[in-house]
Amino acid sequence: MLVTGLSRRGFFAAGAALAASLVTAGCGVANGNSSDRILEPPRAGADQATTPARLPIATVSPDAVAAKHAGQSPKAWGMDLDGIITGFNATGKQFAVTFDACGGPGNNDIDENLLAFLQAQRIPATLFLNKRWIDANPARAGQLAANPLFEIGNHGTAHCPLSVNGRAAYEIGGTASAQAAVDEVWGNHQRIIALTGHAPRFFRAGTAHYDDVAVSIVRELGETPVGFSVNADFGATASSGQVQSNMMTAESGGISLAHMHRPKSGTGAGMLAALPALAAKGFEFVHLP
Ligand SMILES: [Zn+2]
Repeated sequence: MLVTGLSRRGFFAAGAALAASLVTAGCGVANGNSSDRILEPPRAGADQATTPARLPIATVSPDAVAAKHAGQSPKAWGMDLDGIITGFNATGKQFAVTFDACGGPGNNDIDENLLAFLQAQRIPATLFLNKRWIDANPARAGQLAANPLFEIGNHGTAHCPLSVNGRAAYEIGGTASAQAAVDEVWGNHQRIIALTGHAPRFFRAGTAHYDDVAVSIVRELGETPVGFSVNADFGATASSGQVQSNMMTAESGGISLAHMHRPKSGTGAGMLAALPALAAKGFEFVHLP
């Protein structure tokens, strides 16, 4: 991990509110299947500011990944384990914004005002879409996937904490085996290939929690687990003023986490205030490299 954000402390301070939000986002039953699929590795020279990188073709066997890790016992748990990126090597004052769409009952809305602002201001973003959200909004998801300003990341199939032994986060039960963790990643991996025509590069688990075995599983499936250095909206429970002040702690090479499925939260207004203010301080918004 390259960057540790000061604002992560705020994450824990707001734990109760975050938990309340994430509980409603839930974790259903993962139902991805594990047939072999084709992955693509990074294309050099993509115009990072306007077009997310794509991946050249490689093969991966989800069944082999699940078998390799079957029965393993995790040794670590959290949001910033080794193997989870929480920052990137920046050129100057670069910063990456990410927005999650958690999906499921009550969580399938979209903050159109926020997305319109990103488009009008040409601010690139990684949108971590859960499979349930995509399935509830297939046409809109297709439009977002077709816009080179946005890169589509994998926010899981059923929005589960990614575990191999069922460990919970905020009382949301995690996936309970290596196979279930593989399915949680792969079900939406396949859905995103159908949506975008290429494999997602990045993954963020529901609740952003993992154990160390699950982090290895994500990487062996060809995706990079993405954490954050700025917890901008505390699970879409923060006021607009809190979102703004959280974002103003941004440092070069950092990654913000906020949500795009809660149009009535303070997230959109806070971002509309904070992003121009960061730009005025010299920040350039970029896709994750
Ligand atoms: Zn989520």
